[in-house]
Amino acid sequence: MQLSRRQFMKGTAGGIAASSVAALGFLPSTALAEVRQFKLARAKEIRNTCPYCSVGCGLLMYSLGDGAKNAKAEIVHIEGDPDHPVSRGSLCPKGAGLLDFIHSPNRLKYPEVREAGSSEWKRISWHEAVERIARHMKDDRDANIVVRNDQGVTVNRWVSTAMLTASASSNETGILTQKFMRSLGIVGTDAQARVCHGPTVSALASTFGRGAMTNTWVDISNADFILVMGGNPAEAHPVGFKWAIEAKKRGARIVVVDPRFNRSAAVADEYVPIRAGSDIVFLGGVINWLIANDKIQWEYVKAFTNASYIVDEGFGFEDGLFSGFDPAKGQYDRRSWNYEFDEASNARTDPTLQHPRCVWNLMKAHYARYTPEVVADLTGSPKDGFLTVCRYLGETSARNKVGTILYALGWTQHTVGAQNIRTMAMIQLLLGNIGMPGGGVNALRGHSNIQGLSDLGLLSTSLPGYLTLPNEKAHPTLADYLARTTPKAQQPGQLNFWSNTPKFFVSLMKWFWGDNATRDNDWGYDWIPKWDKMYDVLQVMDLMHNGKVNGLIVQGFNPLTSFPDARKTAACFSKLKYMVVIDPIATETASFWRNHGEINDVDTAAINTEVFRLPSTCFAEEDGAIVNSARWLQWHYKGANPPGEAKTDQEIIAELFVALRDLYRRDGGKAPEPILNLSWPYRNPLDPTPEELAKELNGRALADIPDPKDPTKVLARKGEQLPGFALLQEDGSTLSACWIFAGCWTQAGNQMARRDNSDSGLGNTPGWAWAWPANRRIIYNRASCDPSGKPWDPKRTLIAWTGERWAGADVPDFKIDAAPSSGMNPFIMNPEGVGRLFATDKLVDGPFPEHYEPMESPLGTNPLHPKVVTSPAVRIFPADKARLGTHDQFPYVGTTYRLTEHFQFWTKSVALNAIAQPEQFVEIGETLAAEKGIRTGDTVKVSSRRGFIKAKAVVTKRVKALTVSGKTIHQVGIPLHWGWETVAHKGYLSNTLPPAVGDCNTQTPEYKAFLVNVEKIVGA
Ligand code: SF4
Repeated sequence: MQLSRRQFMKGTAGGIAASSVAALGFLPSTALAEVRQFKLARAKEIRNTCPYCSVGCGLLMYSLGDGAKNAKAEIVHIEGDPDHPVSRGSLCPKGAGLLDFIHSPNRLKYPEVREAGSSEWKRISWHEAVERIARHMKDDRDANIVVRNDQGVTVNRWVSTAMLTASASSNETGILTQKFMRSLGIVGTDAQARVCHGPTVSALASTFGRGAMTNTWVDISNADFILVMGGNPAEAHPVGFKWAIEAKKRGARIVVVDPRFNRSAAVADEYVPIRAGSDIVFLGGVINWLIANDKIQWEYVKAFTNASYIVDEGFGFEDGLFSGFDPAKGQYDRRSWNYEFDEASNARTDPTLQHPRCVWNLMKAHYARYTPEVVADLTGSPKDGFLTVCRYLGETSARNKVGTILYALGWTQHTVGAQNIRTMAMIQLLLGNIGMPGGGVNALRGHSNIQGLSDLGLLSTSLPGYLTLPNEKAHPTLADYLARTTPKAQQPGQLNFWSNTPKFFVSLMKWFWGDNATRDNDWGYDWIPKWDKMYDVLQVMDLMHNGKVNGLIVQGFNPLTSFPDARKTAACFSKLKYMVVIDPIATETASFWRNHGEINDVDTAAINTEVFRLPSTCFAEEDGAIVNSARWLQWHYKGANPPGEAKTDQEIIAELFVALRDLYRRDGGKAPEPILNLSWPYRNPLDPTPEELAKELNGRALADIPDPKDPTKVLARKGEQLPGFALLQEDGSTLSACWIFAGCWTQAGNQMARRDNSDSGLGNTPGWAWAWPANRRIIYNRASCDPSGKPWDPKRTLIAWTGERWAGADVPDFKIDAAPSSGMNPFIMNPEGVGRLFATDKLVDGPFPEHYEPMESPLGTNPLHPKVVTSPAVRIFPADKARLGTHDQFPYVGTTYRLTEHFQFWTKSVALNAIAQPEQFVEIGETLAAEKGIRTGDTVKVSSRRGFIKAKAVVTKRVKALTVSGKTIHQVGIPLHWGWETVAHKGYLSNTLPPAVGDCNTQTPEYKAFLVNVEKIVGA
């Protein structure tokens, strides 16, 4: 018997008991399906986006509450949005458990304080919280802000209070936070990006011009070959990974290279094991193999890369060191890592590739050492597995074959993180896979809006839109800043898009300071803080360790579980005078002072830090946009009010700012100008709306903008939202908080809320949401066509030259009317217009990637150059160096990772996920387990030089012993996710184990390769 929803509802409303319904024979199949309809009959449907990983799956949320004044809306059901072009109704175990996140018993409801030395939280009013925090901040700022440096340069830098910003908050929260922090002079600031994908930005921007995932989730299905290396998307990005499976169904091959046989490997065609921390050997070996076997997309390489560019004669590489190394400083002088230039300042080239110092020949010589035998010896990967990857990649050098790479933190979290990614970026250039549908370098971002918060410059030395925060030495004046950050084209006729830097920067200053920014005061340049060194999280923790930081504001971040060497982090927090934590849920950071026995063995009474815990809304309780990994800005809507007295981050930040400004207005203080001159034009200054902020992100005209081609016409009238960044001006007549977001909220309205999922070709959905830049979905797409403007592969036509303009399924990433004959090249953000096999002067540790051992090497040597074992450009503080272990005491390689069922340290507060994965464990290979007498279910102690964790052992075939340089190497898999603020079993902080040392370029910590010991705990 089949009943329609209407019939079923009528029947149940008519008093038929459930048992009677079952007795009628139409339960369970049909009627069970109808339960959903019944449950949602009076519910309101609201669109939202999953707040966990950056696949950005669409959600339908259902709330009950009839909208009457006293009826509070409550979310009662969440499911996947079937219209969403990426997720198409799917949710992974994390997304499926979101209802339990919203209603978690660990949600914070009221402002609280933990007084100095106390062992309890005390509820306080918002008024008291804001007043006390503002007083702490002002006192610290007045006592410690550096207004001028020794050279008399105005720097307005406040280092003694630092701020960490969220990874899942909206762009609107992010940009308000940027305004708040910089007006105060805060430079010690970082977002989760520092801990995750910092090296991605560094590597991809230095190669292609932009530091973001090049293609889209759906586009992965256009690939012929997918390499999964440095990531595990089947578990960390499950819904996005379905597009890899789609590609497989269409005939693509998938190969996984990873220290563990993980769930991505389980569905791959091939799995190749590798020693954690040896990826550059493997990938350098691929480069060598491609060259030796002539698997190069030659037309692409000659036209669209810098293979033919001649390098400065001072450049060299010998015995593990590039030219320019200063051993005293532990740094390179990078001047010789550049091209040779002619009299007109154009880079010299040799299109024949014969010149001994052209990039091609230098690269060929550099990687000639990485033979298949060396690869097998240093990585532990079987030679035939390595050669299989080479062959599959090599096949994609054909014009009609394309391969892609999916990676994440398995590459970034190393001292050579940026260079791991660079090596793959070079491979993709050699194969002609950049700009191609089905190609690219797909950096899979981990947190729902960490792409957006990177875009908004919430990092120590950044400003929105990947502009640089001024440096006190390089940019003492605005003229210096613009001269040094505005590159000149290095080849005739190149677009060199960063030549527009003055327009972006002045428009940003107008957003910061409004009418107070004038040409006469250099648009308020001196009110922005200037940095002297990068205050990344490792730097800030070292300063804290040395007693030089008094305050820490933590917004939507859990650094105690996220920063390396957790014991040291807890000791650092104990030296703070005050800490402010803004979060929807309880975090270990906020309760670092609470003793949990071995798990957190602190002396509560001796810790005098005042800790304020402020409850904020979660995704379901606010409007705003977040940016997925593929750069899509997706708008979401509020479905219910938050619990208790929780407020939006915007309201909290605004209340703090207004309280501080009032204090400066009333009492005066040091360097008040940036605070008093800050533009704060919001209708309710205590609660700026997401719409107001989103419009500022886009930007508007402050005066009529005339058409330069016809001055009788106006391109935008005063007060109008701008259609895109092309209209930004350097004369102060436009405002934009983030130039790359210009186009997201135009005169036509909120482009981020668009929901047209029509396929314009090859899975592109340009009418869904809005992507930066300029709604382009696949960046560098001009390179999908040959130099004459014809697609390399007619079956993969994304755009093409029509004879008059570039057009097609995607927005061309190129000057729309620049004919192929113009000589303009596809990498428009690079001043030379081509992709870089040799990364001139952008990276601190070399223009070509080179293998260096992890700081804690299981070999204790580097067989490629024994005198230079680890990266010479590593920055490590003395206190952290003293906490490094050696392989004789800690003989095994530890590597951390994420599980499908959990997201970082949030879902341990979520019932469904806690049920799915309730208890901490580590994975140990069978050989090591046999040696140690460990069986599955035993409790083991995993220790490093920095501390230990205890967890259940899972003895598995998934982690095999490898032979490396004649030595047996065991690897231990250590999942993240546990702590004491949990609805599951309490667990140890896995980040107790890794060392506090980071990627040379970005200081992203080395979580993926460090040394541990393993012991069985008898009687546990
Ligand atoms: S965690 Fe990622 S894959 Fe899972 S539902 Fe959320 S966005 Fe989708």
